[in-house]
Amino acid sequence: MHDAVEPDHAVAQRPGEIRPAPDAQVHGWRRTLVAGRCGGVVFAPRTINKIVTTFGTTLRGAVDERLLAVSPSAGIKLETVTADDEYFMTRAEAARFREVAAEDSELLDLLIDIGTETGLRWGELVGLHLERVDTKRLVIQVQEVWDKHSSEIKPYPKGRRRRGVPFTKRLGGRLDDYVKRNPPKRCRARHRGGGRCTGALLLASKVGTPLNYGNVRRRHWDSVAERAGLAGVTPHDMRHTYASWLIQDGAGIETVSALLGHKSWTTTMRYAHLADARWAQVRDIIGGPEQTPDELSSDAIAKAVRALAEAEPERWAAVAAALDGEQDPISAPILLPSGGTEGSVKIIDLASRSRSAG
Ligand SMILES: [Zn+2]
Repeated sequence: MHDAVEPDHAVAQRPGEIRPAPDAQVHGWRRTLVAGRCGGVVFAPRTINKIVTTFGTTLRGAVDERLLAVSPSAGIKLETVTADDEYFMTRAEAARFREVAAEDSELLDLLIDIGTETGLRWGELVGLHLERVDTKRLVIQVQEVWDKHSSEIKPYPKGRRRRGVPFTKRLGGRLDDYVKRNPPKRCRARHRGGGRCTGALLLASKVGTPLNYGNVRRRHWDSVAERAGLAGVTPHDMRHTYASWLIQDGAGIETVSALLGHKSWTTTMRYAHLADARWAQVRDIIGGPEQTPDELSSDAIAKAVRALAEAEPERWAAVAAALDGEQDPISAPILLPSGGTEGSVKIIDLASRSRSAG
């Protein structure tokens, strides 16, 4: 029936070809994900589980189609996910998120741009007054916060250090341009202690009130996140993302702590394990660059996925639907990682393969 099928464990390396792949290869691949050796990118446990289970689902589909005897990912260990695990986006994911957000609205894209570049809390973002943004010195003074429970803007309580947060020249230029095109309306938020606010909120609703968290999530954020392949990402994850990038690129805990406005740097220690990503650099320095063509770089994957999506939009849509659980993964084409130095993913049609083989 299935002439081309190896009776043993096998992984499709490219369409039309089945090669033996020992379990060890899949387990080794998972370990490189966990160790942050995929192009030096560290993934959150939640992300690793998503990658591993998606891969496992496609392999189970291959077993059901009798293209494989046993799934090489069977029994693969999942990461323990606790409430403390912070989710963060890779740079490629954040870029994709913003691309899709820009199609939704300029305001949402700008909010994500500022959120991932400054790590402000939601209340700080939507309570940010224009006069706190210095696009010449490229720094934001965080001095107020929107408190959704009391529905008012309040100054930071005594004892809490007011902080400055730097941003890039690129973002500064963008903000100048945005404000020029969208002259800000006077701030209509209630301020604690009363008195009329003479300022203006940078990211406000059309009538000058702070953006409403629930409305933004329901009407814009959640669907954009889903379309970007980042379902479940929350606005607060922009802050985790900011922290994780800084730590991974070598900013010290105390610096990151000050930027985030943590009361104590021990709070920031939850990100400390991300500094392990730099161990790959240390290994390169002491041992010379490792030759690891089989390791997958998430940026390379993202690039490859985009190229695939552009080259074969219809098949990609079917893959995406299957990944989102909207389509039966068995009948959809699947996405398989494969060896290779560059973008290591391919779309393969298991169903049609099985038909042609049968
Ligand atoms: Zn105000």
